[in-house]
Amino acid sequence: MREARAAREVILALGAFGTPELLIRSGIGDPVALRQLGVPVVSALPGVGQNLQDHPFVPGMHFRARDRLGLPRANGGGAIISWRSSAAARPDLHAFVAQGAQASPDEALSAGLSTGDVFAISPALMGSRGIGSLTVRSVAASGPRAVEIRSGFLTEQADVDALVESVDFIMDLAATRAYADVIDKPLTPPGRLSRAEKVAFVRDHCSTLFHPCGTAAMGTGPDAVVDPALSVHGVAGLRVVDASVIPVIPTCNTQAPVIAIAERAANLILLRGVVPPGGRRVVYAADFVVTMDAARTVIADGAVLVAGSRMTPIFGAGRYANLHHNLVPTCPPAWPTAAGSARRP
Ligand SMILES: Cc1cc2nc3c(=O)[nH]c(=O)nc-3n(C[C@H](O)[C@H](O)[C@H](O)COP(=O)(O)OP(=O)(O)OC[C@H]3O[C@@H](n4cnc5c(N)ncnc54)[C@H](O)[C@@H]3O)c2cc1C
Repeated sequence: MREARAAREVILALGAFGTPELLIRSGIGDPVALRQLGVPVVSALPGVGQNLQDHPFVPGMHFRARDRLGLPRANGGGAIISWRSSAAARPDLHAFVAQGAQASPDEALSAGLSTGDVFAISPALMGSRGIGSLTVRSVAASGPRAVEIRSGFLTEQADVDALVESVDFIMDLAATRAYADVIDKPLTPPGRLSRAEKVAFVRDHCSTLFHPCGTAAMGTGPDAVVDPALSVHGVAGLRVVDASVIPVIPTCNTQAPVIAIAERAANLILLRGVVPPGGRRVVYAADFVVTMDAARTVIADGAVLVAGSRMTPIFGAGRYANLHHNLVPTCPPAWPTAAGSARRP
């Protein structure tokens, strides 16, 4: 074993599965579970590995095209559509078109998906509510035997209902004139389904859109793992900068939010210790949903938040409108550095 020591701080960026696993193996997690594993407790944070969120995806709706589709173009994917299920106030469903079969080899063979001109229109629930967890089962083992992941998919009836509606929506979409010219026939499902069949279809095909997050959530409550500056509660010199810190899954794909988190982390690290004239702490925020709780906290703390210009409409329109007066709504002409000098961004 080799030991490496950091002079300033350690940043974990192992993703929503790797980060909580390493934290737990390092003694940062639920104290009861740590004792059962025989790991000395370094910091009692019961939220580590909890609050796993992801977008459930139903990649089973296939159609045979009337005409040759040819070789897959680009990445095989096509147009994306977002819409609102009947119980949602805002768009919570999303579907995209993909050339070829999105099925297991067995299903592709039995449903005739592996031959000819087949494409899928696959719905996903972006407003998912199901909560899962990651548990380390053994510190001696590694790989899949060491960790148990419960996705939380379809544990909420509202999520099942929304995805059941999405099956109808895709069938309605396929019946429009535009698609009727393209589609020879539906393959899976082969036609309209009863409510019970739709529930079974969703449960049989439910998969992941690969957006896990939330397992080392940012916040200030008892289940929070990192604070609004991304530092692990109760542990000096340790930050998490990845999808684990997202407390509530956004209704979008997760790469952009993770980049926003990373940009914010970079700003926080650069600005550590900088106190501008006037004595109020300045925090530069990246411009994404995940920074909102952090923004509320730093402002409550007496800091001035300098937001990117793209952040302003989010603040102005949403539940954070009351923070608007605290914001400096445009990027500053010069950004202070950790050394206190100024440079152009
Ligand atoms: C197949 C797929 C398709 C996707 N498509 C899209 C898309 O189209 N649009 C979009 O917005 N998002 C997409 N995403 C989601 C997006 O990629 C993730 O949200 C984002 O990459 C998460 O960033 P992260 O830094 O949290 O984790 P990651 O990007 O997963 O980075 C974590 C890194 O840590 C490494 N690691 C883990 N454990 C250890 C360890 N113990 N030691 C050393 N290294 C370790 C991993 O190998 C990995 O390189 C997709 C994800 C997948 C898997």
